[in-house]
Formats: sequence, structure tokens, C-alpha cells
Amino acid sequence: MANLTDQEIDLIAQRIVADLTGRGGGAAGKDGGKAANIPSATGEIGIFSTIDEAVKAASVAFCQYDQMGLKKRNEIVASVRQSMRQHGEALARMAWEETGLGRHEDKILKNQLVAEKTPGTEDLLSNAITGDDGLMLTEPAPFGVIGAITPTTNPTSTIINNTIAMIAAGNSIVFNVHPNAKRCSCYNVAIINKAIVAAGGPRNLITCITNPTVESAQALMKHSGVRLVVVTGGGGVVQAAMASGKRAICAGPGNPPVVVDESADLDRAARDIVFGASFDNNIICADEKECLAVSSIADKLIKAMTYNGALLVTKEQLPALEKVVFTKTYGPRQEADIDRSLIGKNASVILQKAGIRCDDTIRLGIVEVDHDHPLLWTEQMMPIFPVTRVRDADEGIDFALQLEHPRRHTFVMHSDNLSNLSRMARECNASIFVKNGPSQAGLGFKGEGPTSFTIASPTGEGMTTPKSFSRWRRCTLVGAFRIV
Ligand code: NAD
Repeated sequence: MANLTDQEIDLIAQRIVADLTGRGGGAAGKDGGKAANIPSATGEIGIFSTIDEAVKAASVAFCQYDQMGLKKRNEIVASVRQSMRQHGEALARMAWEETGLGRHEDKILKNQLVAEKTPGTEDLLSNAITGDDGLMLTEPAPFGVIGAITPTTNPTSTIINNTIAMIAAGNSIVFNVHPNAKRCSCYNVAIINKAIVAAGGPRNLITCITNPTVESAQALMKHSGVRLVVVTGGGGVVQAAMASGKRAICAGPGNPPVVVDESADLDRAARDIVFGASFDNNIICADEKECLAVSSIADKLIKAMTYNGALLVTKEQLPALEKVVFTKTYGPRQEADIDRSLIGKNASVILQKAGIRCDDTIRLGIVEVDHDHPLLWTEQMMPIFPVTRVRDADEGIDFALQLEHPRRHTFVMHSDNLSNLSRMARECNASIFVKNGPSQAGLGFKGEGPTSFTIASPTGEGMTTPKSFSRWRRCTLVGAFRIV
């Protein structure tokens, strides 16, 4: 197991900072590594100056890894999990400090979740069919080098999650991380490499570059050494991946609605919605982004939300809040441009900016709006949460489908009415549908099943697992090995 000492961690961080800032030792540094007393980070720990170098190193690592067998693969995955259990908290703090997004304590939970519940090789089941003509065996095989592009909203949890799932499937990885999260992401890649090597795995099984940009992401997608592209981010990167000419697994934006009908347990629904919509300040793609409440219970639900950490913004306060949240609107039922500097900020920061008095115990600002309001139609990624009234569950489901655009990402419903739950489950046609819980239950957080932070709705893999990162190979034996 890779139990790094504090001294080793400090050294890694120093090397990365030196490389990223061009000061000191790394080969990426301006002085070519001569001036400072810090060894080069570049190459040694999976961190390179160029995409080409990173792909070449990951290709060599893949060839070595491919020879190592399943037992060693399991040991390596176990070592990565152990290392991420140990360093998840520090990584969460780094991500929070660097990006300024979300809540530190929630980021710790996200890192714990992916370290524990990302599936490993147990996900890779072979399939055998036998008959009069013999045996057919299908087995999941690695692609080779995967080019993975990661977001700023979950920088370390996506890297941990992608790494475990992709290397469990036998691949190596080149990450092009988000430029605004490059420090915590490079550090994450470096310490995962340590854990891999400590378990007897090859160097550079996962790699990244010190100065990622949109251009380097595009170069990675098109690199001849990359067999599979996996992107996690907004609409732009999804489009770019689909145009890359490579097989692509694309995890794009969402706008998850939550519908609450008159049969729901309102106290539980209110508690779950406030928790779900405020988790990491609403920056997770699957977090509830708007609520559709059946009119007969809307007042009760709103009141119950205020007992669970939400503050109700009044009709009179709404115009000031709109001015703060939006930089441009495009009329009724249109997505608006949001002030990106407020993404992932605490509710109290945003509300106070709009002149609304509140303290930091408030997790979520809720505001009642009509059906045309841009807050309903926009993926706001901040803890300002619109609630709108609907006549009944059927109108709620119909309207939820429109609000989601449809991206077929995540839907939530609180109801005890089986026909309503069943209609929404069928018609939302989404990667995730959560009934009677917070959206995070669909990610396996206090909900059953494995987790993923790359939820591929545009390309249909949904919650990605090692199986998603495998190519399926058939082997046929004619005339034998049906043993009954
Ligand atoms: P983003 O799209 O700004 O960036 C994501 C990554 O893509 C970054 O590494 C960025 O450098 C790169 N990128 C952006 N545009 C590109 C282009 N045209 N060509 C090549 N690379 C490009 O997203 P973000 O702000 O980091 O993350 C938030 C968005 O991601 C939200 O829309 C959220 O819903 C979505 N998201 C989805 C999932 C999912 O699993 N479906 C998970 C996390 C985030």
C-alpha cells in the first residue's frame, strides 16, 4: 500500500507548484530544472509538459500493465483506493481553495464516495454461451490509452472515479484537467501514480500535463495514440468530443427537476430537496436544480424547506436577486447567462449581494417563480433554487420533461403514488431517476449501487463503470466444451 509520509506529500506538492508556476525544478520550469533544489516533476510522477509526451508515457505504461494480470490489477486498484482514503480530505481542501467552488466538507464526502464505491474488476463479467456447436466466450478488454477531460466542478472526485474505473478495465489514462483546477488535479495524478507504483504497477499509468488548455484538450482528443475519448463537462466539450472522429463517451450538462405531488411525505421531501440542491452548493450536474410542487401542497412544502436550512426569498426581493444572478436574459422560457463568479458560492454570499439579510447557516435560497422564469430553464449551479406550482403530478411530469431540455440526465420525484412514480420513471427516459430521496442517492450516496462522476447521457452509457471503458471481444471454440 502507498502510505505517503507528510514529507513525501510536501515534496510532491512543491514539485508540482514549481512546474505549474515555471519556478524552480521541473523540466517544464523556465530554468530547465537547474536552479532549484527540487527534482523534476515532469515524467517522474505522471506529469508532463506536452500531450504528446503524456500519451507516449501512458502508451508505454499500458503495454507494461497489459502484461501484469488480474491479481496485480486488483492490488493496484486497492492501493489507489487506500491512498485516496488517506488523501481525500487534503485533495478536497486543495480543490476548494483553488477553484473557489462548493463546500469543503461536501467535497470530502464526494472523494470518500468515489474512493469506496467506484466499481473495480468485479464489474467485468465474462459471458459464455454453449450449445451443440461448442462454446462462445465474450470478454471485456481494455481499449489502451484513454484521453479523459475533467471538469472544474468535481476536479478530484472525477479523477479518482475515472482512474479506478478505467484502470480496473485495464487501460492507461491521459488527463487533460480543467485549467482552473490544474494544481489540485496534477497533485491528485501525482499521488495516484505513487500508489500505483507502490503496488508494483508501472510508472505513468495515469498522466496529465502541467498547463492544460482547451487547445490541449482538443489535441488529446485527436492524438493518434488515444483509443477512447471520455469527457466530463458542459455542452462545448461534449460537442468537441463528438466531432473528434474517435469513439467518445460524453458526460454533459443536466438541469435536474424534482417533482413533489400531494401524496409525498412532505417533511422528508423538504429535507431531501434542501440537502440535494445545496450539496456542494449545487455544482454537481445531478443536484436538483428546480422544484415543481403540486399547488395543494406547495405552501406546506416551502414552509418545511425553511425548517431545513432554506431561506425563502420574497416576490419583492426577486428582482434584486435576478440582477445579481443573471448577466443577460433572453426572455421567457429561455436559458439565461449567469454570473459565473457566483457559481458554487455559498447561498449567504449570493443572497447578501442581493441585499437579502441572512447568515451562513442558510444552505439554500428558495424563490417562487412562474413557469416562464429563466431560473427554471437554466443550469444555475448555485444554491439559489426556484420552486414553481403545477396543477397535479401529470402537469408536473410534463413540465419537468420540458425544463430538462431534454438532456436525459437526472430526475427526482417525491410521491407515494405508484402510478405517478411509474409514469415519471418511464417518461423521463434519463440516466438517473431517484424516487423519495435526494439526487445524490442516485450517485450511490446513501442510496444503493455503485457511484460514477461521469454520467454519460448524450452517448448513453449513463453511470459509467469499468464495463463502459471496455471493448468486447468474442472467442469461439467449435464443437467442444459444452460440458452437459
Ligand atoms: P466545462 O465544459 O467548462 O469544462 C470541462 C472540461 O472541458 C475542461 O477540462 C475544459 O477545459 C474542457 N473544455 C471546455 N470546452 C472545450 C472545448 N470546446 N474543447 C475541448 N475541451 C473543452 O465544464 P465545467 O464548468 O468544468 O463543469 C460544469 C459542467 O459540466 C456543467 O454543465 C455540468 O453539468 C457538467 N458536468 C457533467 C457531469 C456528468 O457526469 N454528466 C459531471 C460533471 C460536470
